[in-house]
Amino acid sequence: MFKKELGIFTFKDLVEYYPFRHIDKTRVNKITSLNPGSDYAQVGGRLKGIIKMGEKGAKRLVAFLQDDTGEIELTWFRGMSWIENTLVIGQAYLVFGRPAFFMGKVQMVHPELEIFAPEKADGKNFLEPIYSSTEKLKARGLTGRAMGKLTYTLMQLLSEKDFPENLPDSILKKYRFISRWDAFFNIHFPSSEEMHAHAVRRLKFEELFFAQLRLGLIRSTRHRSSQGWVFDKVGDLFNTFYSNYLVFRLTNAQKKVLKEIRRDLGTGKQMNRLLQGDVGSGKTIVALLSMLIAADNGFQSVLMAPTEILANQHFHSISDLLRDMPITVKLLTGSSVIRKRREILKACEDGSLSILIGTHAVIEDKVQFKNLGFAVIDEQHKFGVAQRAKLWKKNLLPPHILVMTATPIPRTLALTAYGDLDYSVIDELPPGRQPIETIHRFENKRPQVMDFIKKEIFKGRQVYIVYPLIEESSTLDYENLMKGFEEVKSFFPEPKYWISMVHGKQKPVQKETNMNRFVTGDTQIMVSTTVIEVGVNVSNATVMVIENAEKFGLSQLHQLRGRVGRGGEKSFCILLTGYKISNDAKERLKVLCATNDGFKIAEKDLELRGPGDTEGTRQSGLLNFKLANIIQDRVMLEVAKTIAIQIIDTDPDLSLAENLPIKNYIQLQKGKTVWSKIS
Ligand code: ADP
Ligand code: MG
Repeated sequence: MFKKELGIFTFKDLVEYYPFRHIDKTRVNKITSLNPGSDYAQVGGRLKGIIKMGEKGAKRLVAFLQDDTGEIELTWFRGMSWIENTLVIGQAYLVFGRPAFFMGKVQMVHPELEIFAPEKADGKNFLEPIYSSTEKLKARGLTGRAMGKLTYTLMQLLSEKDFPENLPDSILKKYRFISRWDAFFNIHFPSSEEMHAHAVRRLKFEELFFAQLRLGLIRSTRHRSSQGWVFDKVGDLFNTFYSNYLVFRLTNAQKKVLKEIRRDLGTGKQMNRLLQGDVGSGKTIVALLSMLIAADNGFQSVLMAPTEILANQHFHSISDLLRDMPITVKLLTGSSVIRKRREILKACEDGSLSILIGTHAVIEDKVQFKNLGFAVIDEQHKFGVAQRAKLWKKNLLPPHILVMTATPIPRTLALTAYGDLDYSVIDELPPGRQPIETIHRFENKRPQVMDFIKKEIFKGRQVYIVYPLIEESSTLDYENLMKGFEEVKSFFPEPKYWISMVHGKQKPVQKETNMNRFVTGDTQIMVSTTVIEVGVNVSNATVMVIENAEKFGLSQLHQLRGRVGRGGEKSFCILLTGYKISNDAKERLKVLCATNDGFKIAEKDLELRGPGDTEGTRQSGLLNFKLANIIQDRVMLEVAKTIAIQIIDTDPDLSLAENLPIKNYIQLQKGKTVWSKIS
């Protein structure tokens, strides 16, 4: 019963099934003092009578309880005969429930009740725990309150030694944590509000700390076991490029990340680093400089992008930057012609090529390198783990890997979900960027929006109009897109205007052609689904119109918006919606209009959707804390991470006496639970 309903299997599970609230059981409310705003409350009085009411199918049992101020109705719709048989008229009861008001009368539906015995409130454990229960369990008498009694009985059988300390003394002292036993006892049966807060604080810390420690240990084992190439010098290629061809100054954030990467490359361990940076933060140049370090040390590099369009873009901008440097860069994609392809494969094998840019094509088995040492994966979420693993086999030792993503990962999440990759962040945009102005408009303003677009096009700018596509296969969504396309065409007739359309049902060639026409400026308007979400860089585009913006998630809207504002011109994002939108959607649009900061948006997204929903975290299973909340408790999360790292750095095997409690606890967690099973 317990198992199925609440997932409670053992005594340990029961002890870790925490109450969701406590009530002060010494506080007995007067019946007339209850009001519509009262939350759970407790009243005491004598049972005056019981009656069955209602017709078949809508029967209920009503009992009347009276104290010296008034009367309350207690109502049951289920388990009526059992309750009728247990209740004794004339007996004093203590009743607990949520008061409701009906036709001026106060009542409680399915209250919990017990015989009134005031002496039970001994002044010590006056805070009584209330647990969430299920209807099924309640029907069997296992109410949220009864669960407390069960737990209390269990706790009486246990003692301090059943809760061996799992944190080193120094941490306990430094952070003034109470002992484990005290924490477990007080989270259920606190001697005061203050003790309850202490208990919660300690147990939250425990959850966060051990999660961080486990991740840290995985990371450290990987560091210790996976040997990597040593790039110990920064040579001519890097230096020449840096002083002669880098047309701007790196931002401090870019410098910091570059330092982190350089440090990794010198350790002799393989690097596995996630580089997160908001759209336009300048990740590419960091990748390029890292690849030059690889070249300086005699190694080849690959840069892999999720689409041909992106691979093309990278190739053009990088070969342009390196045009006067003695270094060979080539592009390999699915549509590279055979003769070209043969040439490239040969250059990879004989080592005459230094940097290979491309799509998945670069990791095919046929592509063999003379000495691959560095791999960059752009826009990580479009690549699977299996594909990444393929890279590892391209040389005797795996190449260093830099994974780049623009998906804003909130710090708190990076601390948890991505804990097994080392993490770098560019949290600063290059100077001189004009913030994108974001505006929400209802349907009826469409003509004005179209006029605005005309003005921008007249100035020589380009425009995106994006339609939501929830499911790739949904015909309804396509109808929407086609209707939209026709409508846009009617506003912007050929030959004055030219429009590209790109969507997931097109053949790759078709997609490329349409995209390229927009990139080269042949078309002024791009009508598309979210396929353009990732990485596309048309710096002349200044307007992003998002249709049915209420249907998109916050992060996705931010990604789409990131397609504009990439040049020096002021850019705009216009969110179009109908009148009827949910409060959540309103909140999302408000956030988006208020800020351009990807991190703030990601935090907000996490808050609105909950961590379980955020991309890439679902599989981690590391976010299911019982007490801790990675948003509200982010300060503690950082502390926990810092301490965990410190411990792993100084004592990776946990062999110091000081860390014995940690080691024992981890072993205990790994092994079978020591407590006997309930069933
Ligand atoms: P993303 O991080 O989205 O991939 P990119 O690497 O494409 O961003 O950079 C966006 C634009 O910003 C590029 O045109 C790039 O040349 C430019 N850029 C990068 N770093 C700087 C900098 N430090 N100062 C000025 N412009 C920069
Ligand atoms: Mg990029």
